[in-house]
Amino acid sequence: MDQIAYVNGSFVPLSEAKVSVLDRGFLFADGIYEVAAVLDGKLIDNASHLARLERSVGEIALALPETIARIEEIQKELVKRNALINGMVYLEVTRGADKSRDFAFPKGVKPTLIMFTSVKNIVDAPSAKTGIDVITLPDIRWVRRDIKSVALLAQVLAKQAAAEAGAAEAWMIEDGKVTEGGSSSAFILTRDDVIVTRQNGSEILPGCTRKAVVKLAEEHQLRVEERAFSIDEALAAKEAFITSATVFVQAVVRIDGKKIADGKPGPMTNRLRQIYVDFAKATAT
Ligand code: PLP
Repeated sequence: MDQIAYVNGSFVPLSEAKVSVLDRGFLFADGIYEVAAVLDGKLIDNASHLARLERSVGEIALALPETIARIEEIQKELVKRNALINGMVYLEVTRGADKSRDFAFPKGVKPTLIMFTSVKNIVDAPSAKTGIDVITLPDIRWVRRDIKSVALLAQVLAKQAAAEAGAAEAWMIEDGKVTEGGSSSAFILTRDDVIVTRQNGSEILPGCTRKAVVKLAEEHQLRVEERAFSIDEALAAKEAFITSATVFVQAVVRIDGKKIADGKPGPMTNRLRQIYVDFAKATAT
């Protein structure tokens, strides 16, 4: 059965879901996206994703074509129409299709809103047991990484380099410090059991999973420091992990081919993963 996608007010088979070649998302990457996980047919931490969507579109003066409440209804309708149990809902809003290809915002053009779903078993992903490799490379992105823009070319190149090296993620480095992963937030656990992740700012995307994990860790009386860390510090760490909507909490066991500790997912990462899965199941909508 063909999957169902949503395009500008209609639910259509994915194979027929199309936007114009003049769409500014396509021509200028003039758009914002969000990805929310689905577990047991329910959305995970979706209010946080929709709040970030509102913030991102606000930062680029893009008016959403639907209310946040309606967007949530569409997400849920799409999950239902696709009988999605475990996976994710992708949504993207762009400044729409305009005839002139002017760089400046066109007037009177309705933004494009699309959504589709995909299947992924996040909780039972094999990589959660084995851990993943990451590589490091320079962070060549623009300076407003706090906006969840669809301009992802730097991350496409970074993740391709990772794939060619047999790694699952790339950690990007700026001024000697890790900013974040190509599509995830980066964490380490220091020798004295402090969970460290970079503070929010324009250098990184404010990850929804990062935010939830920091809060949950603090609620469990775990020590958290939000500050930048270097690769040397990560290599000397007890544990390293990433977070994102589509992996939850995922152990990193090697960086540039060098093992972190014994090269296996550590107890703190496994614990935080379980804490996050419990939170996700308890708060799913
Ligand atoms: N950082 C970047 C650059 C990302 O692209 C993502 C997710 O796509 C994240 C962090 C993790 O964010 P979230 O936890 O909201 O999925």
